[in-house]
Amino acid sequence: MKTLKFGGTSLANANKFIQVSSIILNQVKNDQIAVVLSAPANITNQLEKIIQKYTFNHIVPIEIFINIKKFFLQLIDDINIIHDKYPINKIKKKITLKFKQLNNLLDHIQTLNYCPDKIYAQIISMGEILSAYIMKAILETLGNKVTLLDPVKLLLANNNYINAVVDIHKSKKRFKKLKIYKQDIIIMPGFIAGNQFNELVVLGRNGSDYSATLLSICTNSHICEIWTDVNGIYTSDPNTISTARPLSEITYQEALELAYLGAKVIHPASIKPLQYYNIPCTIKNTNNCNHPGTLITNQNKNNSDIIKGITYLSNMILIKIYSIKNIQIANISNKILKYLSDKNISVYLLHQSLSSNTISFYVHKNNTLNIKKKIKKILNKEIQKKLIESIIEIKNLNIISIVGNNIKKYNVKIIKKICLSLEKFNNKIFEISYNISNISLSIVLHTNNIINIIKKIHDFIINKTIPINIFLIGIGGVGSELLKIILEQRDKLEKKFIQLNVNVIANSTKYITNKTNINLNNWTHEFAVSKKNFYLKKILILVKKYGYLNPVLIDCTASQDIANEYNSIIKSGFNIITANKKSNSSLLLDYLSVHQIANKYDKKFLYETHVGAGLPIIDNLKNLIKSGDHLIKFQGILSGSMSCIFGQLDDDITISDATKQAQKLGFTEPNPKDDLSGIDVARKLLILAREFGYSIELTDIKIEKILPKHFETINNKKKFLLQLKKLNNQFTEKVNYAKCKNKVLRYVGTIKGNGSCSVRIKEVDNNSPLYHIKNGENIFVFYTKYYQPIPLIIRGYGAGNKVTASGIFSDLLRIIL
Ligand code: ADP
Ligand code: ASP
Ligand code: MG
Repeated sequence: MKTLKFGGTSLANANKFIQVSSIILNQVKNDQIAVVLSAPANITNQLEKIIQKYTFNHIVPIEIFINIKKFFLQLIDDINIIHDKYPINKIKKKITLKFKQLNNLLDHIQTLNYCPDKIYAQIISMGEILSAYIMKAILETLGNKVTLLDPVKLLLANNNYINAVVDIHKSKKRFKKLKIYKQDIIIMPGFIAGNQFNELVVLGRNGSDYSATLLSICTNSHICEIWTDVNGIYTSDPNTISTARPLSEITYQEALELAYLGAKVIHPASIKPLQYYNIPCTIKNTNNCNHPGTLITNQNKNNSDIIKGITYLSNMILIKIYSIKNIQIANISNKILKYLSDKNISVYLLHQSLSSNTISFYVHKNNTLNIKKKIKKILNKEIQKKLIESIIEIKNLNIISIVGNNIKKYNVKIIKKICLSLEKFNNKIFEISYNISNISLSIVLHTNNIINIIKKIHDFIINKTIPINIFLIGIGGVGSELLKIILEQRDKLEKKFIQLNVNVIANSTKYITNKTNINLNNWTHEFAVSKKNFYLKKILILVKKYGYLNPVLIDCTASQDIANEYNSIIKSGFNIITANKKSNSSLLLDYLSVHQIANKYDKKFLYETHVGAGLPIIDNLKNLIKSGDHLIKFQGILSGSMSCIFGQLDDDITISDATKQAQKLGFTEPNPKDDLSGIDVARKLLILAREFGYSIELTDIKIEKILPKHFETINNKKKFLLQLKKLNNQFTEKVNYAKCKNKVLRYVGTIKGNGSCSVRIKEVDNNSPLYHIKNGENIFVFYTKYYQPIPLIIRGYGAGNKVTASGIFSDLLRIIL
């Protein structure tokens, strides 16, 4: 025998009823099948709403009543379209009869002027009874024999009409007396049982899962299958946490803890009896029958996943009782627990402290009205005798729980990660609590941001994914190239659990944004049509709003204004990666301030591309210095354009032609005058020197001017190139003079051990590593304490959008180191 339970989500319409009938018939071939059915989705809620509305307004909301009836009549009409032999008239009569009964019950509560629990149970269980009739008729239409069981007569429960508990032993005996033919399919409406007076009682909301457990035990099923609308038990609710994943196996204890602490995929009451009778349970998806689902057993086979899931309960109320005499603590807790258990109110995180003489616990808002008042009433005697100092109530709390075997072993790591996840949300942890069986760890928070927090903790703790949230400003050559690299590399990194999310793309006038991720296949179009005006402060606040874990602002502009804001950007929670040399080559005080603020706020400030574009210079230097090295002397060709121009001079090309050619190849700034002025090389040299700890300003660097003074006033590019021709002869002479000595001219940046820096044209012979550097290549020659007399040399292309973007990308991965 096998028991299958189909929840409301599996019975939402005619097609789903038919789908469920096929699942049942598929299984009938191998086993005798017992089926538990819920009410179609939302029907119980609607029935409950009728009662609630009546209780508040004393008027029966007739429109809800009519809608429910309409739903069932439409349902069987639709089934009849699919199966034309469906006994529609017979079922219609049943439905009409049921609604007459419902009408009578509603009349009854109007006469009484309130709704007793007994009637409440009869009303809200109607959906289950109709589901069972409707399904029975479908299976019979398809030529099967069906036995319909009456849970009121078979499942003996206590006298609680709303949250009844079933006596399994006695119910089992009743089942033994039943005669069911082997070929029959058994159907039983879920959610319902009967008390000793044969009155209908219900098993609590979501109680059909419990019915499935009871039927599995009473029919000696070898397995209980719970069919729902998701692929099993997930690491968190998949309908709110998109990155949650289904668990293939889980123990009863873990399932119970997840269910109790908020995973509503299975009712907690259904698990313990299954464990006691050792009946395995699978949670399966009606909409995806071939998915294996989650198997719940006694064994914890897959030990690799220690943490099984994250759940949450919102709208929780904390009750804290301060008592004076600690001898009273046990008495008071007993009284409270008895009351809550009688009322079937679940209690969470109950603590009693003998040192502070307090008892505290949480209950769900929906479970009880005015809980504080009720507790006061129960403890009236103690209050009168002044044994209780005060009772406080705090509402709107959330309990987030991490569930997994032996969780205490990992508590430090877990709590650290939770704290990191919460950091961005400015939420204080109210309480941290373990359950006694060492299977869950709960934290209590007061927040309106619960879903985002759960998402963060889930990704961090379960998926172990490290997100990097990117805000890119500047979408010229480098910025655009960077977005291409991110798009290319993203999937590969995702496999290594690094998630690159681009959340903002901006230029100096406008921006686009997406809370999760901008679609990089379409960003240019989205950007073109965007009407959002760029305003730095507007985008900075997004970090706190969305609680990004590793936000990074990438500055691909050349803007002094943006560079001036680095301190406030870091204070807003960002790491910074910059290709904009303006900040590091500014005044020493400003340079130091950004570095200090980054340090103070524990943020990364990275600028690998400031020197040598994509070449690995800065990071290597930092590592060398950390390991105790220091500079003796540096020499290098730090500019792609100067490397290209001076390299051509070797081949007797004039300086003006060489400059034009370098411009054509894309090595120069828009106006090549900016390259030949030497200032760009000086800025890079300044950044390098500061990296070695020299406290210098840009003005301390001696720049040998290539251009005569009158060039300073020529700003027009064409005019500049024409004027440059006038320098051709002078340069040819210099080149030839060097050639006589078997030397070439190079534009060289130098840092001496005492920190003095210069940028100038140098003659170098072929013993120098600089001799062969041309065609845009850069070279960096470091003579250090560790690297001498043979220096550390790094050479390669030091300019171009692609290599610069790749340098920024390597910084991006350093964010999470
Ligand atoms: P049914 O109608 O089949 O009883 P429920 O709506 O009661 O279905 O339960 C299924 C729902 O439980 C899913 O749609 C999902 O949103 C929710 N759920 C909450 N937590 C989890 C979890 N950890 N794993 C799977 N589903 C979960
Ligand atoms: N229909 C009932 C409810 O919605 C029982 C169940 O579906 O489990 O609570
Ligand atoms: Mg359910």
